[in-house]
Amino acid sequence: MTDLPGLLIDGAFQHGEGEPEQVNDPTDGSSIVSLAGASRAQVDDAVAAADRAFPIWSGFSPKERSLAMLKIADRIEAKQDELAELEMRNCGKPLATARAVDVGNTVDVFRFFAGALRTIGGVPAGEYKSGYTSMLRRDPLGVVAGIAPWNYPLMMAAWKLAPAIAAGNTVVLKPSEHTPLTALKLAEICAEFLPAGVVNLVTGNGSDVGASLVSHRKVRMVSLTGDIATGRKILEAVAPTIKRTHFELGGKAPVIVLDDADIDAAAEGIVDAGYYNAGQDCTAASRVYAQAGIETKLIAAIEQRINALTMGDPRHPATSLGPLITERQRDRVEGFVRRAVTDAGAELVTGGNPGEGAGFFFQPTLIAGAKHSDEIVQREVFGPVVSVTRFTDIAQVVDWANDSDYGLASSIWTRDIGKAGAIAAKLQYGVTWINTHSVNVSEMPHGGVKSSGYGSDLSIYCLEHYTTPRHIMFKH
Ligand code: NAD
Repeated sequence: MTDLPGLLIDGAFQHGEGEPEQVNDPTDGSSIVSLAGASRAQVDDAVAAADRAFPIWSGFSPKERSLAMLKIADRIEAKQDELAELEMRNCGKPLATARAVDVGNTVDVFRFFAGALRTIGGVPAGEYKSGYTSMLRRDPLGVVAGIAPWNYPLMMAAWKLAPAIAAGNTVVLKPSEHTPLTALKLAEICAEFLPAGVVNLVTGNGSDVGASLVSHRKVRMVSLTGDIATGRKILEAVAPTIKRTHFELGGKAPVIVLDDADIDAAAEGIVDAGYYNAGQDCTAASRVYAQAGIETKLIAAIEQRINALTMGDPRHPATSLGPLITERQRDRVEGFVRRAVTDAGAELVTGGNPGEGAGFFFQPTLIAGAKHSDEIVQREVFGPVVSVTRFTDIAQVVDWANDSDYGLASSIWTRDIGKAGAIAAKLQYGVTWINTHSVNVSEMPHGGVKSSGYGSDLSIYCLEHYTTPRHIMFKH
């Protein structure tokens, strides 16, 4: 792939004039393309284009916006093979998963917000003061900076773009410097059906391109999916200009398996949601708390299923586990595992090593006997690594589950639905799954509490966050 223009500004593609970023294929480490990022002047141009397009796009009726978004969804669906192939190449995702989940979810998110936007409205309306009638408008904010991560490049670009434009905002999207390719295709599709400047895209790194975008005076809202540390930096950067932020940050999901759980179902769910996307998932089922009576059986059932996973070429239909995104990420994951076993004294049940060859593979890894205070239980690894910690009583496991800076996802496995409901009520997490894990639907909010962020992606609650309620009062 050569001579790819990496920027979409005001409806036209152009080459970046900033620092080049290397985009690689993690399956074999080879280069796909070197893409020049945006210069500061080009970031300014992108924001100016979005600012000019705002009165035009926000003046479209809900029906007109909805129709444009439905056409975008149809075109994404028509190009699903091309998009899936590109996502596979840039991320090493198994091809069938990239098509069904990454592209499939992207189509659904555009369709969901295309429908939901027609329901936006203000509820309170009445004569709250004698002689005055009040009404409520729910209006868009202006230019939104959407900042996306590398683990689901197309899907996260859609989660940033779709609700923002549905609400009538315009967007400057910055994908991760590691994975810009499907976001560029998505921007190209959007540009076909939207007025120039409604969707703009700038590529480049976070510290220059991202930082100048989020601190721009004309950007009214920053929507980030990324690391907690990046969220902190963005909060500092936006302080001088005071703008709304919407943060989907990291996670470290507790998975609580009670003595009365269906062990096979729990093991299946843990392997599906712990090693999916090679564990590079903010909701990954990564820290298991097993009640003492079933701990040994559960570990054996998980190990057996790990042994059935096939790591390798993402093009191959039998492959269930691809590589990690970069060599750096693989080394980071290896470091976590080494410290868990050699420093903290946990038991390595299976895995623990990089894969063979030039790609950034890491074996699916299971660690048993981890203590709640261990680094492997406390920190987000973002790799194919699951730890198991034994507990005896329920009050203790609820304390452990909540004793985390993260608050995104959690799950409970038990045959006693009353017990599950009581535990769910006490957990401080944006989502608690019962007898399942990591299942999302566009109708329900996906978001965290505590350092995992605020604002929620998906659902009408997300759409509301991209608008502001305004009071209009008539004197009569
Ligand atoms: P990251 O924070 O390193 O990068 C995310 C994006 O932020 C990239 O586009 C990057 O260039 C940009 N960025 C970095 N510094 C910036 C700055 N100073 N100003 C503006 N932009 C900046 O995250 P990542 O490594 O790409 O993704 C992994 C992280 O994302 C994990 O922590 C994961 O949990 C999180 N994540 C969360 C969710 C969720 O829904 N909560 C979903 C997916 C990923």
